[in-house]
Amino acid sequence: MKAVVLEEFGDPDVLRLRDLPDPEPGAGEVLIRVAAAGVCYHDLLTRAGHIRHGLTLPVVPGHEVAGVVEAVGPGVTWPAPGDRVCTLQVAACGACDACLSGSDHLCRRGRMFGHGLAGGYAQYMVAPARSLVPVPDGVPLEHAALFGCGIGTSYRALAVTSRLLPGETVLVTGAGGGTGLHTVQLARAMGARVLAVTTSEAKVDRIRAAGADEVILAPDGRFHQQVRSLTGGVDLVVDHVGTPVWASTIRSVRDGGRVCFIGQVTGESMPFNPGLIIQRSVALLGSKGASSADVRRVAELVRLGRIRPEVDVVLPLNEAAEAHRRMAQRRSAGRVVLRP
Ligand SMILES: [Zn+2]
Ligand SMILES: [Zn+2]
Repeated sequence: MKAVVLEEFGDPDVLRLRDLPDPEPGAGEVLIRVAAAGVCYHDLLTRAGHIRHGLTLPVVPGHEVAGVVEAVGPGVTWPAPGDRVCTLQVAACGACDACLSGSDHLCRRGRMFGHGLAGGYAQYMVAPARSLVPVPDGVPLEHAALFGCGIGTSYRALAVTSRLLPGETVLVTGAGGGTGLHTVQLARAMGARVLAVTTSEAKVDRIRAAGADEVILAPDGRFHQQVRSLTGGVDLVVDHVGTPVWASTIRSVRDGGRVCFIGQVTGESMPFNPGLIIQRSVALLGSKGASSADVRRVAELVRLGRIRPEVDVVLPLNEAAEAHRRMAQRRSAGRVVLRP
């Protein structure tokens, strides 16, 4: 099969199209003919060498994948050949305390697709049946590729980690990105007043269409004065950017509010004074990924038409490097998807 392989860290051109043997499903595993693989900022950071924990090179990237079941290994009762499925980000064990308490995305023995396991930048991939979710009839696979990460991560951050309430004010940073647009849509659907920040004038209309009540254009990454004048300080910031905007993020949240980090676009640390966090009683939250229950709810929200997957562009597999450049240069609005 054709697959994009990460063999060494570096710029986008280190992503090379290779011929690999077709994978075969073992016990409990499923062979998927990949129809669509989302490109995530995680993939860019991994490629550049910023995220190495649990990574073994060479690896086929891609942890947000949808396709059609080609074959199943021994012991698989669901799915069956021909079924349409999408992947979770992590192949979980199903038996540890995290898995048994409904947090299978934090599985103690979990391995991430495209990181510790071969991922979806390929014509075929193998995944444990446990790490798949059915795709509802009528939903395109290019949309379903976004369930596990691009939409699932936003869903978990808002509904589970931050416990967003109707009527609260939410600030979304990096709102034009592949996760950001879904955070805007979901926060709006959950009844919040949504403020959104972007560095790109070209993305303003798209962000407004996703449901933002206010769009703040801040090419320099400084937005807190506008946020303050509009709201006096928001109840919740969902931050997709991290270090580069921290100074404005912390000034945008009200005393007693919360900041939920779900994205970090650089490998840099940031300085902060714990005394300030204590004094202002701000809750700092991190939210990674989405559980299988979260992703099933996302599939239902899309089936119902409450959430519309935001695809920027669909590119062929041999343009994986271009996909990474497009995202690194902030030219993408919504998710870039690869189609093998
Ligand atoms: Zn992702
Ligand atoms: Zn587990």
